[in-house]
Amino acid sequence: MMPPAPEVGSTPSLHCSRCGAAVEDTQHTRTGYTVGYYLLHTGPTEEAATRRGEDEAPRTYRRLLEAVEFVACPGCVREPEVRRLWLAFGKEP
Ligand SMILES: [Zn+2]
Repeated sequence: MMPPAPEVGSTPSLHCSRCGAAVEDTQHTRTGYTVGYYLLHTGPTEEAATRRGEDEAPRTYRRLLEAVEFVACPGCVREPEVRRLWLAFGKEP
């Protein structure tokens, strides 16, 4: 049996992966928005190769072994260690 689908619009309580602080959703205001947290979808990778035909050279790519969601609060996202993680695995926020 499938677990019940999460309610649309419900706010799961997220915590910063580094300092553990509770983070809030991005708040939209009339003048702009305040980013509540940054989410990085990452994980350990390994090099893998695909090969379509016998004559084709194999193409290598990074395969995501295990998906990890890293949550960073606006304070921690500026920390060098978090920025390194972001630059290594994802796009700069
Ligand atoms: Zn934090």
